[in-house]
Amino acid sequence: MKRLIVGSVVCTLFLATIVAQSRKPAGTSHDGDAFRFNKVREGVYHAVGTGSLAVVGNSSVIVNDNDVIIVDDHVSPAAAWVLLEEVKTLTNKPVTTVINTHFHFDHAHGNQIFDPTVQIIGHEFTRQMLLGNPTAMPLYQGYITGMPGQIETLRKRIADEKDPAAKAKLQTQLQVTENNYASQKELKPTPPNVTLSTQMTLFRGNREIQIRYLGRGHTAGDVVVLLPKDRVVMTGDFLTSGLSNMSDSYPEEWATSLEALKKLEFDTVLPGHGEAFTDKAKIDYFQAYLRDVWAETSRLKKTGVSAEEAAKRVDMTKHKGQLPIQTAGIPPIAATRIYDLLDGKVK
Ligand SMILES: [Zn+2]
Repeated sequence: MKRLIVGSVVCTLFLATIVAQSRKPAGTSHDGDAFRFNKVREGVYHAVGTGSLAVVGNSSVIVNDNDVIIVDDHVSPAAAWVLLEEVKTLTNKPVTTVINTHFHFDHAHGNQIFDPTVQIIGHEFTRQMLLGNPTAMPLYQGYITGMPGQIETLRKRIADEKDPAAKAKLQTQLQVTENNYASQKELKPTPPNVTLSTQMTLFRGNREIQIRYLGRGHTAGDVVVLLPKDRVVMTGDFLTSGLSNMSDSYPEEWATSLEALKKLEFDTVLPGHGEAFTDKAKIDYFQAYLRDVWAETSRLKKTGVSAEEAAKRVDMTKHKGQLPIQTAGIPPIAATRIYDLLDGKVK
């Protein structure tokens, strides 16, 4: 009997190893740590990529009494897999919950690696978008179609480079891009399996985790994650440390929705891109930018210029003291979005 039990345990362990290995995605190899876990509170970490693996967005890791919650899971199955591997350096508690702040590829394309028992929580719009055809969207297409060319260019530059240090740097870039491309090929966009429309609260021991939808903004379904006791908020791309992508945004409403963010009680922001910050004035700066970009693009549209031309002419340099802006012009994808909203092509 004893031998049978031991045999069964060994067999189960063996099977578990096989299952884990068969799930391991392509493109996970990298040198050194892929993430820097910046501890902001006891059990609360902001995970920022080191550059040794393509992860693109940041994630946050909340270690509770008995489990772990991950907020956003990066750009690929490989990036999410490596995140889980490196989270094991923080804790051996299981990841039970993932929260997607929004549907964009750099925040939700790791969803597929999680066991079906893991709750993946997102706004109902996020589910709708990930159930649709997210890889056909211009934002993702723009990202993926450029990759073979980038790989080709890197290979040529490596062949021509004489300086050993510069050559090694390019080789790392090539490895990162090739691994990312290999992982993208295995992509199966996976929607949240739990949705909310306005608010949801999770309770874990003494910690309360509030998931809040504050109105349309960066997309029609961004949520923020508030830890009221820790006074920390995870904002995804609803508020970053710089300029968020505007391809699926509602710039005018976004400025208003950010007003609701200001009403929440927090001291520290863990954004989807850039480093954590405490300066709440960044919300005002970004609101001012959004209002100006909307007004200026609308004004140019009324004069009859094309969206392409408006993208070159919209001048937001007066915000350069507060935001990373060097020269006149906005991304064409932002101008097109504003034109589409003004034309009623998107509602
Ligand atoms: Zn992002």
